[in-house]
Amino acid sequence: MTTIGIPRSLLYYNYFPAWKCFFEELGAEVVLSDKTTKNILDSGVKVAVDETCLPVKLFYGHVQNLKEKNIDYLFIPRVVSVEKKEYLCPKFLGLPNMVLNLMKDLPPVLHLDIDISKKNKGFYRKIYKLGKLFTPNPLKTAVAFKKALKKLSEYQQQLLMGYTPMEYLDSLENGSISKQKYDFKDSKKNLDKREVPQKLKIAVLGHSYNLNDSYISMDIYKKLRDMGANILTTEMLSQSDQEKGASNLKKDIFWTFGKDIIGSAYYLLDQQMVDGVVLVVSFGCGPDSLVGEMIERTFKRKRTLPLLFLTLDEHSGEAGVLTRLEAFVDMVRLNKKTA
Ligand code: SF4
Repeated sequence: MTTIGIPRSLLYYNYFPAWKCFFEELGAEVVLSDKTTKNILDSGVKVAVDETCLPVKLFYGHVQNLKEKNIDYLFIPRVVSVEKKEYLCPKFLGLPNMVLNLMKDLPPVLHLDIDISKKNKGFYRKIYKLGKLFTPNPLKTAVAFKKALKKLSEYQQQLLMGYTPMEYLDSLENGSISKQKYDFKDSKKNLDKREVPQKLKIAVLGHSYNLNDSYISMDIYKKLRDMGANILTTEMLSQSDQEKGASNLKKDIFWTFGKDIIGSAYYLLDQQMVDGVVLVVSFGCGPDSLVGEMIERTFKRKRTLPLLFLTLDEHSGEAGVLTRLEAFVDMVRLNKKTA
């Protein structure tokens, strides 16, 4: 059986259920890289140029890990745009080229250009071309693609209902998905129903690929839950809530992920539906430096919702992060008592 390697990194957290479904429907076996370890991160750091952001360095490490698994193909799509008039950051646009230039002796890389900004002209032709590697029958490819889109929509629904990507993808892997886990209609009700009296509600905002990698994020979700907080993530807010928040901006932000983060932050500030916000950014990320600064300034000006700003890089120490989280949670708890 043909094996397709998919790095457990970057857009894995956004699209993996769809990619897995597509390739499996075409008769291939999907092989994931291992969960992040120090060795995986170090091997990525070794090949990356210094100014590369942390998540891309990590992506290289996952590619290296897959190389050692003797797969037939590596899947690295070039995702330019997933919404009209918005783009992903340039690193995603150049990802397959950067990998091929920096890393030697890789298995053949399967490309797929995704660019909704251009009305996705020729997209289906590219899908059929990709499918041809596995089947001469275009109908089979079309069915696989349709099923993949359905899987993606189911996945997004599960996130809206309260799963974090990490929880959902892990349970997908060990076959223990419980559709009953959070049986709520929308994120606000979800948050309310998960709440037990006196529990704090903390929003954790940042890139999915940082927050859901427990090595990189130092298991921030678990740490906060252990401190007695309910957490809310960007994925648990609907697109329309995020857009409502982003409508406070004087000028549009063209980076999809940046807009989602700032939209979520401003929405939470307007709605006051959480007790505090933890914003996690990557060292070396251009979009984060702008978005992070805008969020920080706005929160400081309004002074209605506490914000903790955390920057992650490959040298971040767990003890330092834990201390800052504990101090933040104590401060939020005190605020709540005295309010
Ligand atoms: S948005 Fe930032 S963290 Fe993400 S890939 Fe681009 S530069 Fe790196």
